[in-house]
Amino acid sequence: MTIQWYPGHMAKAKREVSEILKQIDVVIEIVDARTPLSSRNPMIEELVEHKPRLVLLNKADLADPESTKKWHDYFESEFSKSLIIDAQRGKGINQIPGAVRDLAAPLLEKWKRKGINPRALRTLILGIPNVGKSTVINKLAGKRIANIGDKPGVTKKQQWIKVGKEMELLDTPGILWPKFEDEEVGYRLALTGAVKEEIFDFQDTIVFFFKFMQKHYPVLLKKRYDLEELPENILELFDDIGRQRGCLVAGGEIDYDRVAELVFRDFRHGKFGKVTLETPQN
Ligand code: GDP
Repeated sequence: MTIQWYPGHMAKAKREVSEILKQIDVVIEIVDARTPLSSRNPMIEELVEHKPRLVLLNKADLADPESTKKWHDYFESEFSKSLIIDAQRGKGINQIPGAVRDLAAPLLEKWKRKGINPRALRTLILGIPNVGKSTVINKLAGKRIANIGDKPGVTKKQQWIKVGKEMELLDTPGILWPKFEDEEVGYRLALTGAVKEEIFDFQDTIVFFFKFMQKHYPVLLKKRYDLEELPENILELFDDIGRQRGCLVAGGEIDYDRVAELVFRDFRHGKFGKVTLETPQN
């Protein structure tokens, strides 16, 4: 489920997350590997400031592995530590505690210098809706945590979950808003399920998607719709797919809405194969 964000929601989420962050040693930010920049909160830098941060590229099973590698390098150079994971299948989850410990090395060193007995490192999962926060928490906890909220901010009475001996995780993630400023970001968020279907236009979204696929994954697009040639003209592409899939209105005209919705569902169901919707260069 996704949240409708209003200025009040955003302000509240920011306030709550900032407050909780005071107790946190290492922040775990989750992004969608298919849209690693578009799926980030626009204020995340300001919020997290200089805390050590681990960036998880989640849903790697749905993303293009080559792009994921590039994004991994990008985030490693920005924030020093990033992991590629598939939380649904639990892949990569067991690397999280080690990465957290590595990131906290300066802090552990400081405690040691001051003669403080090291306590478990406190972590918080942060991210926009639908990136897989609850799935990661459940996997790290090794069980289903009841009542993971779906409201902005950090929404319920929090408890620490022990993850091994050296790490603790807040059982409620910080839920932040996605970027809204940029049209293309909106299309990517729509395609990956981060925003409600009611708030975007299927046809516009699919025009964006077709242009992107023509440029980056023409073979996958052709293959999905058994097209011999990939027309350059987007309208022709709608026509070809509409005819092929019987998306017609009375009189044999193409039903563009139906074509757009069909393609949208196909993407949502992973029917094109592994696709990443933004590259570190663009
Ligand atoms: P949250 O809103 O950030 O807490 O996201 P959820 O944990 O509820 O996950 C949103 C959806 O993405 C659910 O349908 C999950 O099953 C799915 N999901 C989470 N992680 C993965 C993953 O690594 N791969 C795939 N394919 N789906 C995932």
